[in-house]
Amino acid sequence: MIAVALALQVASGALAPTFIAVRDGAATTQVPVTITGGEATVRADVLMRAMKGTLITGTNLHYTLALPRTRIALIDGIPFAKIDTLTIPLNRAPQVSGGQLYLPFQFVSEVIPRYAGGYAYDARLAELRTSTASSVAISGSVALPTAPPRATPETTRAAAGVVAESTRAPVRRTPVSKPQQRKLVVIDAGHGGPDNGMTGPIGNSPWFVEKNVTLAVAQKLATVLRARGYDILMTRTTDTLIALADRGKIANNNHGDVFISIHVNAPGYNTARAARERGFETYFLAEAKTEDERRVQDMENESVKFETGANAPKGDPLSFIITDMAQNEHLRESSDLAQTIQNGLIEVHPGPNRGVQQANFAVLRGSYMPAVLIEIGFGSNQSEATYLSDDANQRALARNIASSVIDYLAHYESRVGGTR
Ligand SMILES: [Zn+2]
Repeated sequence: MIAVALALQVASGALAPTFIAVRDGAATTQVPVTITGGEATVRADVLMRAMKGTLITGTNLHYTLALPRTRIALIDGIPFAKIDTLTIPLNRAPQVSGGQLYLPFQFVSEVIPRYAGGYAYDARLAELRTSTASSVAISGSVALPTAPPRATPETTRAAAGVVAESTRAPVRRTPVSKPQQRKLVVIDAGHGGPDNGMTGPIGNSPWFVEKNVTLAVAQKLATVLRARGYDILMTRTTDTLIALADRGKIANNNHGDVFISIHVNAPGYNTARAARERGFETYFLAEAKTEDERRVQDMENESVKFETGANAPKGDPLSFIITDMAQNEHLRESSDLAQTIQNGLIEVHPGPNRGVQQANFAVLRGSYMPAVLIEIGFGSNQSEATYLSDDANQRALARNIASSVIDYLAHYESRVGGTR
């Protein structure tokens, strides 16, 4: 969605052709590109006819582009398109003029090729064509997030500005009809009690203990969010052990809106080279894909060995399947939340930015809500352990994470509000 917003600024104005060709096999139909209000647009009915789709005019300024593989919902004057539960920001709103609906050129160059399934746009030939089977798969994955690319600090920094833009935009433009409810943010300080988490730094006698730093940051995060009018539930407020499975259960029983777990990272082995590892990363729940993601997953899931008797997770296979399904619905939201937090942290954290990751954390698995796990840095690294131990730095991190959570919840609220 971020890339769409960026690319379109460029594509809509200067680079738009006067005609595009819609090609289906050998058949080609010309669709004129008109300039309305200084922006390149195409008439929705003409484009739909050329694509063998239909423009459906609903009530209350609502329109639907019914294409063979997908339906795109639009509202006259609102710069968003909707496909199922996915909201796509547009660089310009669709507009009715002279009784006709005009779509921003972005639909031809980006939205249809990316989301409609089975189309590609060739900017050089100004040709929108039915593409081969390989790209057809896109239509099936519309509701799921495309794995965020491992961004370099520079690209993420650039994107961060756009995220801030696009997450705030819906709040201004889309009135939320139902009364604003107070949101509950569940904050989980990693480890606790006999489970210290990681200790560091490497090469020094351990003066850095993960469980203490996660609790300190979690408490500061709670303070900031409370001051901003959010309800807070902490899985622990003292040096105590809460079973991983119970952390999610606590969140569910209290109907949390988001779940934020705070942790500190450590490399898989203790060498001078490992001691240089540093940076921050945010995880959302999914199968771990890389060796490094698996390492962090295993490390954080280790806590289970401290759990005995009553607080140990029950091995009920059915509850596992149900948990899995519930969590899947939040996969996209969790991924968005992780990206928002990760982009925000770039502003305060010395870095490097290690990107958004995915892993199958036991603590995230049990929460039926958008859930992320933040590794705020490497306690195994001398300078990062010093940075993370500092009270002012902890407050800066907490303030930054809080703003991201607030931005995310405002965006999420407007999307949920739009479907109901
Ligand atoms: Zn941890």
